[in-house]
Amino acid sequence: GQCITHCPTGALRERDDTSKIFRALADPETITVVQVAPAVRAAWGEALDMPAYMATEGRMVAALKKIGFDYVFDTNFSADLTIMEEGNELLVRLVDPEEKRWPMFTSCCPAWVRFMKSQYPEMADHLSTAKSPQQMFGAITKSYFAEKTGVDPKKICSISIMPCVSKKMESVLPDMYSAGAGADVDIVLTTREFARLVRAEHIAPALLTEEAFDSPLGESTGAGVIFGVTGGVMEAALRTAYYCVEGVNPPPDTFSDVRGFEGRKEASFTLGGKKLRTCTVSGLKNARDLMEDIRSGAVHYDFVEVMACPGGCVGGGGQPILDGVEMADVRGPKLYKLDSQRPLRFSHDNPEIIRLYEEYLEKPLGEKSHHLLHTHG
Ligand code: SF4
Repeated sequence: GQCITHCPTGALRERDDTSKIFRALADPETITVVQVAPAVRAAWGEALDMPAYMATEGRMVAALKKIGFDYVFDTNFSADLTIMEEGNELLVRLVDPEEKRWPMFTSCCPAWVRFMKSQYPEMADHLSTAKSPQQMFGAITKSYFAEKTGVDPKKICSISIMPCVSKKMESVLPDMYSAGAGADVDIVLTTREFARLVRAEHIAPALLTEEAFDSPLGESTGAGVIFGVTGGVMEAALRTAYYCVEGVNPPPDTFSDVRGFEGRKEASFTLGGKKLRTCTVSGLKNARDLMEDIRSGAVHYDFVEVMACPGGCVGGGGQPILDGVEMADVRGPKLYKLDSQRPLRFSHDNPEIIRLYEEYLEKPLGEKSHHLLHTHG
């Protein structure tokens, strides 16, 4: 929710971590690596009074470079990585006749994970063990990326820009120190804090020339982009699960039935000759209703995606606030448009993800993935 900044007297101030950024940027020993979440690019222009057509991904990258970050990467890259791990986890569960943990729940929204663990602890082991894209990104930055570029991971300051306030809490959970160089993500900024940085540096992003994300953690597919909108994780995971089972890609929009801003959307598909029942939910009230229905046996699903914010991360609590206006259904279609324009629409086709597995992780759900990319309880 966006109520955190709505205290009428200003007595309740939201946490602001921008001063930590200035300290990191000022230290010549520190290598600053920033990742930007998919939902941020659909909204950052609103906070800087830029018309939507000017607030492109490329200008967002240029603004970050102008601020002075050493590497500007795309969380969409690790959204693709999350899909590789989570899609395979779903397939492993589907073929195990002993598996009783149905439905499998997505785990990339920390507010939902916390809600689930505190309110429905008896089903907590149904959650996917895959970490969120933010956390996977941090772990890969301080392991693979540090190794590849020959830098000491302890010198890296790993920063994320998120549409979300809960991501600050997620980054300090005990499982999130997996690469052995402090926290995998050191500083989490919201979209609003990012806009503050841009203003503090007197940057006029509309005047900047577009720039591309850095490599090797900058390439992403349409499947990674739609992570920011309700139903997107589900759709991206199904695209890859289909490929793993059938050996060929389906038409990219095969699973578009999971889309919608109703708050709860059921669909069913056939995968490997088996029926797969899915449900995508956004908003915690809808999540509670869903959990009660699952608990009472009124509904049965195989795979469930839950996002705490209505409409998914595009409507997240760290996004620009337009008083009284819900923007999720305006920003969501922007991500679907970006997805449809991407030459690659499947996470498993991302060449940098393929290289990451070849050079480092070996295979989804392998030893290194288990250590860096999954939670353990
Ligand atoms: Fe954060 Fe909301 Fe997205 Fe959950 S749905 S990850 S709380 S922005």
